[in-house]
Parts: sequence; structure tokens; C-alpha cells
Amino acid sequence: MKSLFNEKEARAFVGKYGSLPEALSLRLYTSRLIGKNSNLVLHGGGNTSVKLKTKNILGEDQEILYVKGSGIDLATIEPEGLVGMDLSPLRRLRTLQAISDEEMDNQLKIRKTNALSPDPSVEALLHAFLPPRYVDHSHADSILVLTHLKDGEVHLREALGPRVGILPYIHSGLPLAKAVAEIYERIGAVEAIVVLYHGIFTFGDDVRTSYERMIEYVSRAESYIKKRCAGKSPVIHRKKIKPLKDHRSSVSRMVNVIRGTCAFPAADGSLQRWYTVVRDGTDMKDISRSEEAEGMCGSGVLTPDHTIRTKNRAVYLREVPEDDEELKKKVSQSVNQFKTAYDHTFSEQVKKKRIAREKLDPYPRVFLAAGIGLVTVGMTREAARVAADIAEHTLMAKLRAKGVGEYLPISDSDVFDMEYWSLQQKKLGKTVPPLLQGQVAVITGGGGAIGLGIAEQLLAHGAAVVLCDIDAARLKKVHSILSTKYGDSNLEQATFDVTDFKSVEKAFAEISRRLGGIDLLVPNAGIAHVARIEDLAPEKFDQVMAVNLKGTFNVIKASVPVFRRQGTGGNIVVISSKNVFDPGAAFGAYSASKAAAHQLSKVAALELAELGVRVNMVNPDAIFGDAEVSSRLWELVGPERMKSRGLDPEGLREYYRQRNLLKARVLAEHVGNAVVFFASDQTPTTGATLPVDGGIPAAFPR
Ligand code: ZN
Repeated sequence: MKSLFNEKEARAFVGKYGSLPEALSLRLYTSRLIGKNSNLVLHGGGNTSVKLKTKNILGEDQEILYVKGSGIDLATIEPEGLVGMDLSPLRRLRTLQAISDEEMDNQLKIRKTNALSPDPSVEALLHAFLPPRYVDHSHADSILVLTHLKDGEVHLREALGPRVGILPYIHSGLPLAKAVAEIYERIGAVEAIVVLYHGIFTFGDDVRTSYERMIEYVSRAESYIKKRCAGKSPVIHRKKIKPLKDHRSSVSRMVNVIRGTCAFPAADGSLQRWYTVVRDGTDMKDISRSEEAEGMCGSGVLTPDHTIRTKNRAVYLREVPEDDEELKKKVSQSVNQFKTAYDHTFSEQVKKKRIAREKLDPYPRVFLAAGIGLVTVGMTREAARVAADIAEHTLMAKLRAKGVGEYLPISDSDVFDMEYWSLQQKKLGKTVPPLLQGQVAVITGGGGAIGLGIAEQLLAHGAAVVLCDIDAARLKKVHSILSTKYGDSNLEQATFDVTDFKSVEKAFAEISRRLGGIDLLVPNAGIAHVARIEDLAPEKFDQVMAVNLKGTFNVIKASVPVFRRQGTGGNIVVISSKNVFDPGAAFGAYSASKAAAHQLSKVAALELAELGVRVNMVNPDAIFGDAEVSSRLWELVGPERMKSRGLDPEGLREYYRQRNLLKARVLAEHVGNAVVFFASDQTPTTGATLPVDGGIPAAFPR
């Protein structure tokens, strides 16, 4: 590991944050250097601080500790992420024997110098008690590898040298802060302190020294491990392991089954669904096939801090059966075993510690599947990604540890204390999740006005959306409009042809791989052609039927195995048309194809009810889109209608508005609202048609 400290860059930070004291700008600079190195910290892990002398509002001298806010990511930290705290009363807390969680939380809050700052890191007291001006703290993989070894202290001493204090694992908060301060005072000229199973603290009176000591000591650990591992093959493959016939299909089947097996009824009665992340690069595939895989899954987290993201242990799936029912049985057995063990540890710990705690959900977050690699689940896509990053680092670290010696896990008691520590739980936040959080929605015809309107409402209600279209350019445009407004963490896109079943299947496997499966399918792709039957070219008729009818058939058919493997029900909302009930002349191909797709959807409602999948139709009329994203239908029929009625574009819109009972201008977002209604399972409805047309008597469903 190399120091990335660069005087020029450091100066640039000072310039950029000109209104801040220089020490604070420099603190931001090296905090980011640490945060960007995933071998040092992951996703909000680690923390840094600086102490400053300043004047308070009364003009009196005051010492302020600026420490990272709880849950703030060092990689992207901004001035607001450093919490100013009145240092002197914080230091005096060192005289206390103990402090309750509630009082600790209170002290951290009342010592802030700005009421609007986030809560400071739970390690704020430690930063306060250490005398040096700058303190840097990371959970570096290589340091953790050494602390996990049998005789870890001996290895650490040999690797890091004499100027390092070594502490056993001590619960974060006041006890750890006091122990770190004591060892700092006891050892003269100490440059770093390692806390077993936790991480490393370095410090210095200038920003560069503190940061470069971190790099120096982590590098020493790295080269020590490298030297010990030299010449040893890291992975021994299990014997008699069946190769997967088709990796892509195995991955998608596996994630469908995992997210279905782990779904559970939430407190509000809705279904708690999961997003998945797959890591199947060479390293993870190799480890998944190794002799050590099972042991690695059972030996827990690298540091208790990770527990809230990954749970302590992971599930190992020894085989991936070709048969879906067999696969479901295997995964379900493994998940049940995990849950039983989790519940058991929980009751054991609360009994031993004589405390009362509300049990968290007992579901695993990390799976290792033989031949596939790593699969993680999260209630949000970000949570699944974080769990995957942590799990990947953990497995690689355990592999390296194996090259040096025997890996020892952290005790259940220490992990429990961290998982059920109220101050730790706060990092996860407690907000009411949006209505559709956990759902994956797939919208075909995503490059048009209605697709955009539907996607927008689904994103606004928390679903992850996959926009699909055959037209990459139109898709790109809609994607960029949506990602500007909603970000792209819940947005994916896929380009494929709905008329080709093979390409639909392939795309759905890829969607499963990226998100876990499908909960809501919105067949919306459609084309139109204006011609009286007399003039309608047979091949044009075929084209319209291929997209509007066969396309709907293909996507519904391809979704069925996904719904079946998940076993958690779902919704299909077919975007139909007012024309199904109220056709128009010269619109035969469109009206007939839409009517046939409508009928097919009713049959799907009959057939898929046994899977808990509801199939409903939305019948819109006269949705024009806007200048940016138009409706393909109106691009086609608009000019002819305007000509025949002698109207301009605005006049045509007004004509259609006046035509409906409510005199309403029907918008794509109204169609989106109808889809949200069906997707949120608020009524036990299937096989129904909901008109979104302002009221057209001739098109009343019957
Ligand atoms: Zn820490």
C-alpha cells in the first residue's frame, strides 16, 4: 500500500475549502484518501478527527474536536460530515467508570457545537481522549487478518514492530476509549494502536504523519502476510463437485429462489422482499468450490462492525440442483438452519447477559453457492451492494489468513453486543420504507411517453425499475431523464426485441442476475399502423401482431418461471387500450392485436392465480407525451387526425379532452398511478380492466 499524499493536491483542498480553517480542509483531504481505499475501510467504516483551538461566541478560547459523523462515508466526506464537539467536557468523561447507552448518546448530542450536525461517530470519545491533533482509524483487511490468527499478538508484534500498542477486543464507546488512552500514555513514542478484531488507530500532530503512519503499518501487515503465503496455493477445490451446465441460468435460478425464500411478512402486513447482488468473478467462484468454503461461511465477520450489514455468518450452498423444486428445497433447508441458529444465539445471549432486546429479522444476508460464487441480499439495492463488498473482502481476508496460520472467529457474545448496540443500530436509520421498496418492475416499451410515466411513478414509490426497449436511442433518453430526477441506483435498462422469445428469456435472466428477479411486469411495448382493411398490407398486419400480441405473450411466458421460483406472487399489469372496447376505423391491426393481448391477459389471470400473480389491464386513451418524449402511437396517428379535423397539435389535445366525460387531459403519469395501485396489492383484484381515459362511455369495460 502506497501513500497517496500529494502536497499539491493537499494545497488544492485548502484552496477549495477556503472558508474553513486549514487543518479542517487537510482533514477532509486525507479522510477521503483513506475512504477511497477499500482495503482500509468499506462503506461508512472507519473514522478520522482533528482538534482545533478557536474562540466561541463569547470570544473565549475553546478547543473543538472535529470527528466524522456516524454513518458518513469517508470517501466522499464534506465539511458537514465532520461534527464539531466541545472537547474539554468530552475529555472529562474519562473519569467515569461506566456510562449507559442512553447517557452516552445524550453526551454525544449535547457536546455538538452545531445543533444541525449529524450525530458524531460512536468512537468520538476515543478521538477526544487521545492527545495528538490528528487521529485516523481504519478496519484495514490486513490488520484484521493478523488479529484473527491464533497467537495473533505474536504475529502482530513481529509484523508491526515495537511502536505499536496492542489491545484485546473491547466494546466501542467509553471502555475502548479509556483503554486506548491508557495504552497511549503507558507506551512512550507509540505510533499506532491495534485493537484485536476491530482495526487500527494512528495519530500525529500533523495530518500527513497521521495518514502516512496508517499506510506504513498496514503495509507492514500486508508484506508480512505476503511473505508467509508465498508459494502456497490459496484454494484447494472440493472433490466430486458437479460443474454447472449453464452458469447464466444457474445464477438467475439461484437468485430467484434465494430472494423468494428470504421474503417474509413485514410488521405492516406487506411482504418484505429483497434485492440481490451476484459476485461471480474468478476469486469468488474459486472460493465457492473450495474445501474451506463451508468453514469460511461459518467463521463469522472480520470485525463486529460489519454485523449490521452482513449478519455474523453466511450460508453455504453445497450444490445447485438443476431441478427448480429441488433447488428450492435445498435453499429453504439452509435458510431455515441459519434462522434456527440465529434465534438460538439470540436467546442464549439475552439470557446470559440478562437483558431484553427486540430480536431483529433472522434472515441471512450472504450466501456462497458452490460453482456460482457470492450472492448477497439487501432490503435496498445499496444494502445488497454493501453486503457484497464486505463479504468479498471478508472471504479474501480469510483466504490470506489461512496462508499464515489458523483463523479464529470472534465470540458470539462480542458480535451480539455490537449487533444489538442501540448506538450501532442508529447507523441504519429508521425510516418508513416507500410503498414499493423491495419490488423489481420490468417495463417494456420503456422508451416512450407511457413507459416514462409508469417508470416515474414506480421510482417515486421506491421500486427498482428496469426500462426495456428495442430502440436504444429512445431508451437512453428516457433513462437519462429519470436518472437526473431519481438517481440511477434503482434504475436499470435492457435492450431486446419482445417478438423474439429467446432474447426475452435471455434478458430476464440478466435482469434476475442484476436485481434478483421480477415482481411486477408491465407489458407496454406497442406499435400501430393506420390503414383500412382493404389497404392493410398483410406483412404490416403481422408486424403489429408480432409486437402487440406475441410480444405480450413472450414477456408473460418468460416471467412465469421467475414468479414460480420466487414463490412470492406478484403483478402483471398489461397496458391495453381504450380501442379494445371501442375500436376505430382504419385501425384494425392495432385494435385487433390489443384485443387479443387483452384476452390473453385474462387467460393469464386464470392461470397465474395459483402462483399469487395478479394480472390486470389498464386501458388508456389519448396520451400524447411531450416535446421531449413523445408517444409513438401519436407520432404515427397524430398528423393524419389533425389533418382530417383541421386542427393543430394543441387543438387536437383539446379535442380529445373535450371528448371524455370528465373533460380531463389524460397523462402518462395517470397510467403510472394505475400501475402503482395494482402493484401495491391494495385490493384482491385480478383479471380487471381499469380505464384511464377521462370516461369514454363506449369504452366502459364489460
Ligand atoms: Zn472502528
